[in-house]
Amino acid sequence: MTTQPMIGIDLGGTKIEIIALADDGSILLQRRVPTPQNQYRRTLETIAQLVREAETSLGRAATVGIGLPGSLSPFDGKMRNANSVCLNGQPLREDIESLLDRRVSITNDANCFALSEATDGAATGAGSVFGVIVGAGTGAGLVVESKVLDGCNGVAGEWGHNPLPWPRPDELPGPACWCGQRGRLETWLSGPGLARDHEEQTGAKGLTARAIAEAEARGDPAATETLERYETCLARGLSHIINIFDPEVIVLGGGISNIQRLYIPLAPKNTPFRARRFLSRARRKNAGIVALRQVFTTQLSTKRCVA
Ligand SMILES: [Zn+2]
Repeated sequence: MTTQPMIGIDLGGTKIEIIALADDGSILLQRRVPTPQNQYRRTLETIAQLVREAETSLGRAATVGIGLPGSLSPFDGKMRNANSVCLNGQPLREDIESLLDRRVSITNDANCFALSEATDGAATGAGSVFGVIVGAGTGAGLVVESKVLDGCNGVAGEWGHNPLPWPRPDELPGPACWCGQRGRLETWLSGPGLARDHEEQTGAKGLTARAIAEAEARGDPAATETLERYETCLARGLSHIINIFDPEVIVLGGGISNIQRLYIPLAPKNTPFRARRFLSRARRKNAGIVALRQVFTTQLSTKRCVA
């Protein structure tokens, strides 16, 4: 008897990616489409359409898991903490299950990332891993002994909305965050946060985080200063994690993780402690979705989070 293929959906702020895996982990199908911006129903319908098309192509039904920023509340089943804010407050699992007429597993994308890196990525073999995604937003996941630690409220690792530690006077009150607070780590550590800081400090408008990193690599002094400010924010944020969790490995993912200078000065310059290894993510495709397979397989075989 053949087992059902597994469909993993990576629901991001700018794109939705679907991948179907066979039982042996081989990729049967893969597709990426833009995320409808700030449109909850259209986002649901896009996911459902992708699944239906994939199943038509596969010729059979599949199990479905979705990785996304934020998480479902274990108390009311509604989404929280997603930087795709149209998802927040919505009963996403209920709605997508109703559209697809089956159970669907939903989990945090940074948890997928951390598990993936701990399983066969940059942190392979480490007993404890803090996986950070710094890109459009800022998220993180904790893995201990090859298991995601998601916490009794399901928010473990939601580090992006902690305040920036030890703010200097010129960093207060800090930029407004979509969550309603000011000066949260995400407003400093995400790609848009880095770009905003550069614009505010230099007056140079419209440069992306990537463009700033490229300018730094060419020796631009203003871009270098921006990245030095960024590094102190990252170090201050991570120092809290080290004091509480003391992970063996910290792995960075997301677009910002491509900035190689982050791996040189950070730990020794800014904190007396450091993770045994501080690494960039494994260079491969689909890492999050491969981990998603493990996450949703586990979830589907155990109790539902939502009562
Ligand atoms: Zn926030």
